[in-house]
Amino acid sequence: MQVIVVGAGVVGCAIAYELAARGAAVRVIDPRGSGQGATRASAGMLAPYIEGHSAALLQLGVAGLDQYERFIGRVSADARRSIEYRRTGTLQVARTDEEARALERHGRALADSGVTATMLDQGELSRSEPALTTEARAALLIPPHGYVRVAALMEALVGAGVNRGVQLVVARARRIAHLNGRAAVETAEATLDADAVVLAAGSWSGGIPVDTAPSPPVRPVRGQILQLRLPQPPLSRIVWGSGGYMVPWEDGSVLVGSTAEEVGFDESVTADGVRRLLERAERLVPALGGAVFEGARAGLRPASTDELPIIGPSKGMPGVFYATGHYRNGVLLAPLTASLVADLVLGGGERPELQLVRPDRFGL
Ligand SMILES: Cc1cc2nc3c(=O)[nH]c(=O)nc-3n(C[C@H](O)[C@H](O)[C@H](O)COP(=O)(O)OP(=O)(O)OC[C@H]3O[C@@H](n4cnc5c(N)ncnc54)[C@H](O)[C@@H]3O)c2cc1C
Repeated sequence: MQVIVVGAGVVGCAIAYELAARGAAVRVIDPRGSGQGATRASAGMLAPYIEGHSAALLQLGVAGLDQYERFIGRVSADARRSIEYRRTGTLQVARTDEEARALERHGRALADSGVTATMLDQGELSRSEPALTTEARAALLIPPHGYVRVAALMEALVGAGVNRGVQLVVARARRIAHLNGRAAVETAEATLDADAVVLAAGSWSGGIPVDTAPSPPVRPVRGQILQLRLPQPPLSRIVWGSGGYMVPWEDGSVLVGSTAEEVGFDESVTADGVRRLLERAERLVPALGGAVFEGARAGLRPASTDELPIIGPSKGMPGVFYATGHYRNGVLLAPLTASLVADLVLGGGERPELQLVRPDRFGL
């Protein structure tokens, strides 16, 4: 079975790896090489149980998290390299009594669905995270959450894919069509055909015409993120609060995210974005005011109109599959997406999660 994957972000590379691991001959096409796009800016949090997720997104996220440990183990072994991946848990911080009550309600709802989540009072919080602002009154600890260091994951995914025979083609897909009854991708240099084509071009998926089918309704939502560094990790867990989050890596780096901006396809980092994130970081962890500034990145999150991914076969184009619209959760959902797509393309049956993400809900 020959497959072409359009887009080498985390979603496209995870799909390529999974297909190749199951025996397919895979080419991945991307004009920028691998791990660019939204993936490059991602915080890599694996956190499905946060407040505000729809029931469908929660179900997908939980299924995605369930697969992570095994996926990291397989990719790491196939690539022969380690990947920083830790289930540190998250702390969602309240500064007011009202916020604390809302967190308690959320904790009870999680407990009702079988997820252990614990409220920490101010004393417990300052003992477990002494670098946090003393304005933090309470926090909800959700132990199953964690993060993966995305650049390390991407290097390993690409390495594991190459070891399984994946070829990376540096080219821009201009159109997806049929050629002699096979699915095909047209680039400036050539038309490449295969048994199946998977459109996984993130925010750009809507701009690649698919013959006889409408384009997927995906729009870019820019997110900016900072990377700061202290000599020692200032936090032991991911912390949410004051409208943002911090992800502490083992080496003392801390990711501070993020903005959400409707600015079209503009991938710039802005002075205003950096200033707002720095203020947020210092408000939550005052010591970060003295941190080394390691960099800032911006990425375009691919948002579908119902904020759920679009995964599955095209109705009008046999041999064409969509895997896009992962919005804020593409890293969390990449292994699940890869197994859903591989099942479909290679005929391995359909998992129940597929019903939540089918392209035909948009007439695709
Ligand atoms: C600031 C920020 C923080 C985030 N934090 C998290 C988080 O903590 N956890 C989480 O799970 N998710 C997070 N996300 C979301 C996550 O990063 C995205 O959902 C995910 O990266 C989407 O991956 P993708 O492969 O679909 O798209 P992308 O990574 O955008 O990749 C799409 C690829 O398609 C390529 N492409 C474009 N046009 C073409 C073409 N014509 N032909 C071929 N290729 C093309 C692009 O070059 C790009 O490489 C975050 C995003 C941002 C911006």
